Amino acid sequence: MMKNTKEDKTINEKVLPLQIRKEISEAIKKCYACSKCTSGCPVAGQMGFGPALLVRWLLVGDIEKIIKSKSIWVCSSCQNCYSRCPFEINIPHIIDLLKEQAQSKGIAGKERPTRLFHQIFLFNIKRFGRIHEASFIGIWKALSGKWFSDLGLGAKMFVKGKLPLFPEKIKYQKDVEKLFKTKTKPR
Ligand code: SF4
Ligand code: SF4
Repeated sequence: MMKNTKEDKTINEKVLPLQIRKEISEAIKKCYACSKCTSGCPVAGQMGFGPALLVRWLLVGDIEKIIKSKSIWVCSSCQNCYSRCPFEINIPHIIDLLKEQAQSKGIAGKERPTRLFHQIFLFNIKRFGRIHEASFIGIWKALSGKWFSDLGLGAKMFVKGKLPLFPEKIKYQKDVEKLFKTKTKPR
């Protein structure tokens, strides 16, 4: 269970609303530290600490440490940990919740390029219902300052028609927009 001292409660309540903490606690309480999640995670080596350790930090209540680490921002949401967990603990969904809280409270480490990538990705999905590569790359380059990275690759994609200039809206785009207003909880 998450730590319960007065001081930790204050820190954690600032970072994560009580309701979400309770839901995460409920979702992870069965974890028995088998590490099957981490052994199947393709980016565990880059995360700083992999999904099994992330669950451990959540169990001891150090949410601020997790949110300020690079761990959640490196996760690629591949779902491997979820499919390998004997208790079906949905770690990618928990990571998404933590990312959203970190974003909305402005407490995410500012130097994380993946945080920016995540923001632009979600903006694209909300706006068009799917990724529009040209605007995605344009915004990414403008905000990250990485103007000259992957230029050759971008040119090749453009020539092959993989970077259409105008976005194509999907049929149920309004429904996708509504999803962004829906409250989520760990499954
Ligand atoms: S969803 Fe994230 S934490 Fe889980 S295995 Fe994939 S990259 Fe690793
Ligand atoms: S696979 Fe599931 S039970 Fe095993 S360490 Fe990961 S979260 Fe815990």
